[in-house]
Amino acid sequence: MVDSIPERADIVIIGGGIVGCSVAYHLARRGRSDVVLLERSALTSGTTWHAAGLVGQLRATQNLTRLAQYTATLYAGLESETGCATGFKQTGSLGVASTEARFEELKRGASMARCFGLDVEVLAPGDVKSMWPLAETRDLIGAVHLPKDGQTNPIDTTQALARGARSRGARILEHCRVTNILAAHGRVTGVMTPAGEIRCAAVVNCAGMWARDIGGWVDATVPLHAAEHFYMVTESVAGLAPGLPILRDPDNCAYFKEDAGKLLVGWFEPLAKPWGQDGIPEDFSFDQLPDDLAHLEPLLAAAMRRVPALESAGVQLFFNGPESFTPDDRYLLGETPEVRGLYVAAGFNSIGIQSAGGAGKVLADWIVDGHPPMDLWDVDIRRCLPFQRNKKYLRDRTVESLGLLYAMHWPYRQAETARGVRKSALHDRLQAAGACFGEVAGFERPNWYAPPGTPARYEYSYGRQNWFEHSAAEHRAVREAVGLFDQSSFAKFVVEGRDAEAVLNRICAASVAVPIGRIVYTQWLNERGGIEADLTVTREAQDRYLIVTACATQTRDFSWLRRHIPDDAQALAIDVSPAYAVLGVMGPRSRALLTSLTDADLSNEAFPFGASRVIDLGYARVRASRITYVGELGWELYMPTECVQSVYDEIVAAGRGFGMAHAGYHAMNSLRLEKGYRHWSHDIGEEDTPLEAGLGFAIDWSKPGGFIGREALLRQRKSGVRRRLVQFMLERPDRLLHHDEPIWRDGRLVGRITSGMFGHTLGRPLGMGYVENDGGIVTTEWVHGGRYQLEIATERVPASASLKPFYDPAGERVKA
Ligand SMILES: Cc1cc2nc3c(=O)[nH]c(=O)nc-3n(C[C@H](O)[C@H](O)[C@H](O)COP(=O)(O)OP(=O)(O)OC[C@H]3O[C@@H](n4cnc5c(N)ncnc54)[C@H](O)[C@@H]3O)c2cc1C
Repeated sequence: MVDSIPERADIVIIGGGIVGCSVAYHLARRGRSDVVLLERSALTSGTTWHAAGLVGQLRATQNLTRLAQYTATLYAGLESETGCATGFKQTGSLGVASTEARFEELKRGASMARCFGLDVEVLAPGDVKSMWPLAETRDLIGAVHLPKDGQTNPIDTTQALARGARSRGARILEHCRVTNILAAHGRVTGVMTPAGEIRCAAVVNCAGMWARDIGGWVDATVPLHAAEHFYMVTESVAGLAPGLPILRDPDNCAYFKEDAGKLLVGWFEPLAKPWGQDGIPEDFSFDQLPDDLAHLEPLLAAAMRRVPALESAGVQLFFNGPESFTPDDRYLLGETPEVRGLYVAAGFNSIGIQSAGGAGKVLADWIVDGHPPMDLWDVDIRRCLPFQRNKKYLRDRTVESLGLLYAMHWPYRQAETARGVRKSALHDRLQAAGACFGEVAGFERPNWYAPPGTPARYEYSYGRQNWFEHSAAEHRAVREAVGLFDQSSFAKFVVEGRDAEAVLNRICAASVAVPIGRIVYTQWLNERGGIEADLTVTREAQDRYLIVTACATQTRDFSWLRRHIPDDAQALAIDVSPAYAVLGVMGPRSRALLTSLTDADLSNEAFPFGASRVIDLGYARVRASRITYVGELGWELYMPTECVQSVYDEIVAAGRGFGMAHAGYHAMNSLRLEKGYRHWSHDIGEEDTPLEAGLGFAIDWSKPGGFIGREALLRQRKSGVRRRLVQFMLERPDRLLHHDEPIWRDGRLVGRITSGMFGHTLGRPLGMGYVENDGGIVTTEWVHGGRYQLEIATERVPASASLKPFYDPAGERVKA
């Protein structure tokens, strides 16, 4: 055990795996030398030491790809910087496809990779054979080659990062276990170890598979679970050329890495084996788990079919080691919403080596600058909800999450395990009506409705899936008659108190100094003018507001709200999400339908767009808000959860006379895209300003006291925007847009699609995306002056562009 520790430090890092060492290295590079890393055992003794060391660069989104690219560049230069050999080699990688769908997936990935500036080429099976002669290629359809992918030695790379950190002043203490995190008034104050206490302002939890329980010490949610993870290493294989690219064979769940004439074969099997549910042993150090040859047998057989030389190769080692997995297969990064000054970098889902460089860099920037350096929502720990710490939930989901890395990444794919955690009070009724549910943040939401006799089950593909026509019928019902949406998954917060208006006016870009009964559509901005949240604020009373935001951002938005209420303000924020159910009644016949159920005057004069009031409906008192996300006349109805069944029954009974249909979230998505409504996390986020996103109309520039982000926006308004969100309509109806498809203007790459869906009223695939003009100002004339193509799976398809919505640009239907 270490005998002496400092009494104070600026930042304490828990855990000396590759991630903790990368955070220490990057903090030191940012000039924070008063950093102490505490490692329970020796560096790399948890998961890092046994990783296969693959360093791929193409990730699911642009920013995660940027981080992986950064990691590869960092590792490539680390040896010359620190004098510590890392074993990093840029051998490239080959991803092969043995089905048409997989080839489409790989080609879509290739299009995306190009858009992100990665070298990539699409290959025929014959090319695979010449690059990897020992591979069986007769069943292949095609492949993708990423020449800049690489591999590294995880232990040596970690030691190099540690040396780089030490040389800049960071202290790395091995054999020093952290036994508690100290916090007071919601803020970190230090850590406890057997050698005493270290007082500090920030703690970074990089404890790998121990990180969940360590977070639990201060009630912070760090949802991850360990699983057994397997590979084998052969003896020398005859004919295996040195320097081969890594061969990924996702259809057989396997990857193959050549190293010193031997083959390392690893797997991402669809049904994994969770491990350590009752806690990770404290003394687990450079340990491995027992072999399970029965589990591996089918995987091994498939691997031998791909590389027949394996049949005769001797086996040097079967390896089984634990790694942590998260419920959505994305890692956990950032400051916890529960405790200020407590940061997390954990749950790396078997890509911790290739992610550590980038994750360490952005987390160090986040700690030093007080905000993330780029949009990191995909991995931001504020996406998690408290229930996700539940161990049974994590264990059950981990069975599925390990295999996801190599599973088909179907559009609209839904998790198959640990479902049904959060349900609307209408769940059973909606199921009886044919709902096929999708899950967001554990909430089961109807995505589409199957007609009687049709199973409410997804059949995935890259083309039109089995629900396409059913969702189209829901879409049309909303446009032509009336649709009923269960929107109970919305997050709802109440802000109450004498200073509620002043507090919210500072947080919101729009003015909330409005009469009682008005709904305000607004963004919450950061100091840089980026959009942190996109929501509505309804004035319920002089001193009370109702805030409604998306289900997925419940934790994040509530945390932002609470952290921006000054200590001395008389304003209390309460998360009331489960207390209220929400029904959306949307479409041209919504007024007639609701009028048959209430004595309230719903006419345009008495109840204009943007109004909200409490009315009688059925036997309940319901807050009716005239607002829409689908671009039609309609009301959102908010009521105590216990009243929603009776209200729903009345609406459904009356709805028969008005052509009402149940409608799901897929229809909502196609409706909102026709109308050009933005979706936070896809079309807008913390790196996008309202001026770039075309949301300038929602800003109140002149309200007293201003708002967070105003100064940055004023500067941007003066200088002009360099990127702009544009709507696109494909000229061909047979291809579908999802996200990240490259946007070409007059043959030049100018951006990528942020969200896409088929627009059933327009009869064409629709998308949105930011376009850039080579660093110049993006004017309306420039946007409309180009000829556009969108690239789908390497094929460029002509598209038209518009800054206005394609559907009802004047907004007449909403105000009807
Ligand atoms: C079989 C296998 C193959 C893999 N292959 C690859 C690959 O090819 N490419 C890739 O990118 N990734 C791969 N990975 C994943 C990668 O190894 C991990 O994602 C990565 O090592 C995680 O690093 P970490 O620093 O988060 O965790 P760890 O390496 O586990 O580090 C956490 C550290 O925290 C310490 N700690 C815990 N509790 C305390 C405490 N209370 N006080 C002080 N210290 C504490 C532990 O001792 C440990 O050293 C693989 C994983 C496995 C299992």
